[in-house]
Amino acid sequence: MRLVLLGGPGAGKGTQAKALAKHWKIVHISTGDLFRYHRDHGTELGLLANRYMAQGQLVPDEVTEKMVEDRISQSDVASQGGFVLDGFPRTVPQGEALSAILASKHQHLDAVLYIFVPEEVLEERLVGRRVCPQCQANYHVSLNPPKIADTCDVCGATLIQREDDQPLTVRTRFKVYQEQTSPLIAFYEKRGLLRTVDGNQTPDQVTRALVSAVGTVADD
Ligand code: AMP
Repeated sequence: MRLVLLGGPGAGKGTQAKALAKHWKIVHISTGDLFRYHRDHGTELGLLANRYMAQGQLVPDEVTEKMVEDRISQSDVASQGGFVLDGFPRTVPQGEALSAILASKHQHLDAVLYIFVPEEVLEERLVGRRVCPQCQANYHVSLNPPKIADTCDVCGATLIQREDDQPLTVRTRFKVYQEQTSPLIAFYEKRGLLRTVDGNQTPDQVTRALVSAVGTVADD
């Protein structure tokens, strides 16, 4: 199973990618997580990526494509029989690069799942989001607060607001999404791969809708 998740910033791609990876026992590949890992470990790639991430801009395509190609080529992806991509592709050239990477392995995507959430809902989700810097658990100040304010329920670390969830940066991310990522919706629709799901429901409801949307692909 090879899947791509599309959706605006804060649409729930990370949460849903984890749920789908568990459901199909496939590998969850998040380019945002990979870049944050490199940034936190001070690698050359991480330092370069952070110049863009901190401002809500996209990391250049070639750098991102190379990182994804390396990750998709690791043995766990073959042994687990696939992946769910979260945060990639984010531009049409990245979509073309992904097709080329898969074609070189005689593989193709099974479906592209578009999680649709209205922009005003996305903005509220992002600005209130808090994350655990230690175990990456996600919270929201009002929609999903931790039991003790600012403290991770799972590991007890102090929660932080991602630098790119600050209101000004959120606005840049929406603009980047509209201009550079949303054309991928038509790109994948043309290829008959797109399935749209209502993302303005509880996380469990969204997961069920995504699983059944993939089921319709298998039936096609
Ligand atoms: P995310 O966690 O998916 O919101 O990604 C956080 C940040 O990482 C983005 O705002 C970008 O700066 C960078 N990033 C993640 N995925 C990509 C991508 N496919 N292309 C370029 N930059 C990316």
